[in-house]
This record gives sequence, C-alpha cells and structure tokens, in this order.
Amino acid sequence: MNTQNSKKTDAAVKRIVIAGGGTAGWIAAAALSKKLGDLLEITLVESDAIGTVGVGEATIPPLRTFHHLLGIDEQEFMRATGATAKLGIAFENWGREGERYIHSFGKTGTSAWMCDFHHFWLRGREMGFDSDIGEFCLEHQAAEAGRFATSSKSNINFAYHLDATRYAAFLREISEEHGVTRVEGLIQDVRQDAESGDILALILDDGREIEGDLFIDCSGFRSLLAGKALGSEFEDWSHWLPCDRAVPLQTSATEPAMPYTRSIAEKAGWRWRIPLQTRVGNGLVYCSDYLSDDDASALLLDRVDGKPMTEPRVIRFATGRRKQTWKNNCVALGLASGFIEPLESTSIHLIVTGVVRLMQLFPFNGAEPALRDEYNKQTQRELEDIRDFIVLHYHVNQRHGDPFWDHCRQMAIPDSLAQRIALFRERAHAYQNNDELFRVDSWVQVMLGQGLKPQRHHPVTQMMTEQQMQQLQTGLRSQVARAVQTLPPHHEFIQQYCAEAVATEA
Ligand SMILES: Cc1cc2nc3c(=O)[nH]c(=O)nc-3n(C[C@H](O)[C@H](O)[C@H](O)COP(=O)(O)OP(=O)(O)OC[C@H]3O[C@@H](n4cnc5c(N)ncnc54)[C@H](O)[C@@H]3O)c2cc1C
Repeated sequence: MNTQNSKKTDAAVKRIVIAGGGTAGWIAAAALSKKLGDLLEITLVESDAIGTVGVGEATIPPLRTFHHLLGIDEQEFMRATGATAKLGIAFENWGREGERYIHSFGKTGTSAWMCDFHHFWLRGREMGFDSDIGEFCLEHQAAEAGRFATSSKSNINFAYHLDATRYAAFLREISEEHGVTRVEGLIQDVRQDAESGDILALILDDGREIEGDLFIDCSGFRSLLAGKALGSEFEDWSHWLPCDRAVPLQTSATEPAMPYTRSIAEKAGWRWRIPLQTRVGNGLVYCSDYLSDDDASALLLDRVDGKPMTEPRVIRFATGRRKQTWKNNCVALGLASGFIEPLESTSIHLIVTGVVRLMQLFPFNGAEPALRDEYNKQTQRELEDIRDFIVLHYHVNQRHGDPFWDHCRQMAIPDSLAQRIALFRERAHAYQNNDELFRVDSWVQVMLGQGLKPQRHHPVTQMMTEQQMQQLQTGLRSQVARAVQTLPPHHEFIQQYCAEAVATEA
C-alpha cells in the first residue's frame, strides 16, 4: 500500500507508520494525530490474531496532564474505561511480614528551604511525638479512609485504575476521528534500504506493503522493528530486577473499590490488586528461579478474593531497555522499547513521555542524528532514575529467611542507588535529579516504609522547641484530617461522577 500524502507540509518526514495497537500504539496515534495531524499521514497496523498484552491498569498522576493536552473529558474517559481513582500504592509485607506502608502521590507536610519535612518529623520522634509520617499527607490519609473527590478547584493529586483493553479502544476512537488509518494485518517482515538500513515498508503476510518515512515500533515484547529488524541492543537489568514472569487474573469485585493499588510481597515476588468499578485486576509478578509457573498460578488463585473471570496465563518478560530507543528511522515505544517492571506503574507513563519527547524532537527534515542522540540520552536518564527507585523496593527489605528476598538484599545495586541509600541512612538526605519522575516525597516514603532508618537528620530542626514542634505537628495533622472529612467515600463519588454503563441481560 502506498500511502499518498496530501498534507499541507513540505517536510521530508510525513508518513508515520505505527506497528502495533496496544496501549503504546494507540497513545502514539492519539497524540500525534491530535497535535501534529495536519502535518502527518498516520497509519497504524495491528493484528487481532495476536492481540495485546492485556495488562497495565494502574497509572500515575502525569497521565492526567497528558489527557488535558489531548482535550480528553475526564468523566467520559473514566466511564469508558471503568476507571477508579488511585491516590497511591499500599505496600504490604515488603519491609517485614505483617508491615504495611503507603507510597501516596501527595505532598507530605511542609518543607523549609534547608531541608524537607521528614527531618522535622524525625526530630519530633526523638522528642517523643508518636506520629506516622502519612498523617501529614492528604492523599495518604484519604486513601486510608477510602475517601476521594475531584473537581476543577480541587488540588488532590491522583491517577487512575483503568481497563487496559477499553483504554486502547477509547484512544483508537480519538485517533480515527483525527484521521489515523487503521490497517488490520499480520506484519511478517520489513523492507529496508540496503545502504542505510532505514525501514522503507512493513510487509504483511498477505503481501501488502505499508510504506513510511518514520516508523514507531509498538509491537510489544516482540519488538519487531527496533529489536528484530534493526538489532537495537537490549541492556539486561535482570541482575537488579530478577522477576521475569507474571500471571494476571481478573476477578469480580467483592467490596467497594478503594482509591489505591495494593502491592503485596509474596515469597518469590509480589502480587497486585487493582480495583476497577466492577471488577478487580490481580496478578503475581515472580522470579522463575524461585517459583514454578504452576505454583505461581496456584498461589494467585488461592489468594484472590473474588470469582475468577479469566484463566491465569503466564507472561514471560526480561527487565531492561533497548540502548537505542530511536535507531535509524524507527522509535520504539512501550514494551518494544524495554520493560522495567510494573511495581510503580511506570510503563504507560513512559509511553507518554516517549511520544511527547518525539513530538518535541520530531525529525521533520529527515535523518537528524543530533535529535536522535538527544532523544536517546533523555530516555536513558529517565529510565535509570526509575530503575533505581524500583530496585530500592526489592533491595531494602527485611524479609530474612526467604531465599528470593535474601538474594535481593544481598545483590549488588547500581552505584547511583547505593549513593542515595547511603545519604539517607547517614543524614536522612533525599534528593531528586532534574526532571526526575519520583520526587523527594516518594523516595522518603519508600525508604522509611522499607525500614531504612536514618542515623541523623538536619541539625536545623534542633532550633525548634518542643512547644513549636507540637504546634507544627498538631496544626498540620488536623488540617489534613479536616480536609479528609470533607471528601465523600470514593465509591460514592465514582458512582455519581463517572459510573460505567453496565450491560444488563434482557
Ligand atoms: C505483568 C504486567 C503488568 C503491568 N502492569 C502495568 C501497570 O499497572 N501500569 C503500567 O503503566 N504498565 C503496566 N504494564 C506495562 C503495560 O502493560 C504496557 O506498557 C502497555 O500495555 C503497552 O503495551 P504495548 O502496547 O507496548 O504492547 P502490547 O499491548 O503487547 O501491544 C502490542 C501490539 O502489537 C501488535 N503486534 C505484535 N506483533 C504483531 C505482528 N506481527 N503483526 C501485527 N501486529 C502485531 C499486537 O497485536 C498489539 O496490538 C504491565 C506489564 C506487564 C507485563
């Protein structure tokens, strides 16, 4: 198929071909068509016979900014995807068996310019004030109370739990409205320029050819273009992130949805529980060196509390990244570009930042190595910071005697993470790099939650008297408690704000 270009541009790169129509493919199609559609001719090829990975249902707050950019109506989106609100993740049994903490999306307390709030909180504990750091964060307390509301005036920071398949369908509708052509077909091969290696066309199994100037590889773990055709090298991170399998399972809901994801450490990995409006997404992520596939499925079936709606199926993956996310005239997005692992729900976010970055550095004039190098450099920095944050959860555990967790505690970790841990342990100092996704609040919640105990904190806190400390803590705590009381129960809010239409049998 020769895609004729009738767009109002003389740019050399006009014909965009997206290979794959999972969350990555349709996010790319929606963003490019909505924002650059007048300049580009966009074709998306996907195969119903292959289908999508079908997981990826917990998100993080920046997705709301992306939706805003695309002009997506929140209520319409939440209704269409059966979405609920997510204020954070409850980590259970990660430090020690029986312990629990929440990594919430909110801001904790109030910070001074010299040091962050947790230094004052640590000083307060030394003085005998017995508080939980989560008591100073609205999102944390709202999650615990199962309360939630949003409006144009509210500044509560939240994300969504959503149905992945319906989300791709929702984005497909937006994309097609903005001129994206969808081609159903099985990609069998690619035609490449003999000299440069650039991709010239996708070859489908029925002989059709889809020609393009720029290709976006959204073919999932198969990585048909970036990996298979162009040989972009895979940097393996399994020595830091040893889980390599997952079993997802959907169940019916047995209780009103809470506004947070649950992540429960198990003997060779962890289990997720994502509450949607009418069902629950569950799954077990595990390391195959320590647990067999059969035992993983049995463990999951034993733990879930609703009626299974799907069969458990094993997904194999390798953690790591493609060194050149953009190689030749192909940019890889989503699972085709690598996978950190789903613990902090970062994959959909990385698809979004990948496509936004592509729009910022778009090669309208053809091959421009400087753009490509910058794209790859920014992507690498972003991924390495996130990787360190995820490794932290595994490494700083107190689950002595579980072989998998003993291994994680003893494994070598990236130097960049070792330095962060040392700084926190010695001085309670936490920091974030420029443009880093996870802010100081996130690092602090997880480091404290996993049981990392700082030996000292900033001496400036000693300038506060006991009375001042009491005033600070009581004031902040009651401010949060009052704000939580103004919120309705999460499930009641969802019901009136965006209840999905449930099909009823005649
Ligand atoms: C266990 C697990 C849990 C996860 N949980 C989360 C989470 O909570 N939050 C989060 O943000 N992310 C999560 N992720 C990641 C998330 O699922 C993905 O980032 C997201 O679904 C995007 O996937 P994709 O579009 O890259 O790939 P896929 O969904 O696999 O889509 C690939 C597409 O390529 C097409 N395709 C492949 N081969 C061919 C071919 N030969 N011809 C034509 N078409 C082809 C397929 O038909 C499909 O349309 C999770 C991942 C896993 C494995």
